[in-house]
Amino acid sequence: MKPDEAIRFLRQFQELLAEGGFVATYKFALLQALADLSVEHGSASDGSLPLHVEQIAEKFIEYYWNQARPFQNQVLRQNTKGQAEVVRLVEEFRTQTDGRLGRLQASQKAWSSLKRRVAGIIIKMPLWKLQTIGNHQNEFLYRKRDYNNRTIRLLPGVPEAFRIFHPLLTSMIRGGWITQIHRIKGNRDVLGPGAELEAFLFGTDRSSLTQYRDLLRRHQAGECFYCGKKVGDEGDLDHFIPWSRYPLDLGHNFVFAHKGCNNAKRDYLAASVHIERWRIQNLDHGHRLATDFNQVGLAHDLERSLLIARWAYQQGQASQAQLWVQKGQFEPCDYRWQAALGMPGGLRLAAEEQPYE
Ligand SMILES: [Zn+2]
Repeated sequence: MKPDEAIRFLRQFQELLAEGGFVATYKFALLQALADLSVEHGSASDGSLPLHVEQIAEKFIEYYWNQARPFQNQVLRQNTKGQAEVVRLVEEFRTQTDGRLGRLQASQKAWSSLKRRVAGIIIKMPLWKLQTIGNHQNEFLYRKRDYNNRTIRLLPGVPEAFRIFHPLLTSMIRGGWITQIHRIKGNRDVLGPGAELEAFLFGTDRSSLTQYRDLLRRHQAGECFYCGKKVGDEGDLDHFIPWSRYPLDLGHNFVFAHKGCNNAKRDYLAASVHIERWRIQNLDHGHRLATDFNQVGLAHDLERSLLIARWAYQQGQASQAQLWVQKGQFEPCDYRWQAALGMPGGLRLAAEEQPYE
């Protein structure tokens, strides 16, 4: 992507966010979905990316799932008039589970029913309104005339821009989302300071983490993922690809570690020796892990976890990141991660792109 193309994309993106024509928060969910799906899928050879509306619906359900639980006794309103239909639907399905999305995903019938209904709302509401600014259509992400078989096509270059600027775009989207929720009249009585709201809307549901940690502890025979030594105390659940880089809880991204190792690693990407171990843990034992994840209702998708990891290391290599080896020791993020994360053929992955060429 050339610098002037990157600037044009960012300008147009800002314009979409600034334009306030939406009564619901769908605009933010849709933009976040397009950004995340660009990370989680490779592009076609021409740099475009076809997306079925049900893939977008899955992301909507993911975002609204935690948001549809009560915030101080009340589910937050996500529409200026009444509640947003997607939130009402997700809330309804959420009450049929113990609050874990993995439970719903394990029940084929309920999961596809919810996906279908949310997809219907996306087609009716935000999909064709998103790029309308005033009475003008600025179709720089996807075009109505390419829409076919409930599938849109992100235009060539768009998935790459979403990948390169993912952290920046995510914070822009979240900022806009929070502001809109604050502006909705029905929420004013329950809302406190903004930071609290951000953790509620976009943080992990902490209540399940202990169970996930114990699952990983059993799987790793009580040993720390990073240093291999026994963990004496309760230990920590660590996001292998740090949450700050890609905030999504998928089972295979969790590892069990010493509190000390976890604190030392912080938000750094792990070094090549750890990537190799992570690959082995997931590729050799991924199936057994998946069964365990299903049992505790933890959402998982190995393919997506791998694609997210590849994207994160590609970003790291492009920005000359330091990879964490152990406390106080780092190594440069060079080409080595590519061998460990097994680049498949066929897809043009983020790793093959250079931000400025
Ligand atoms: Zn350790």
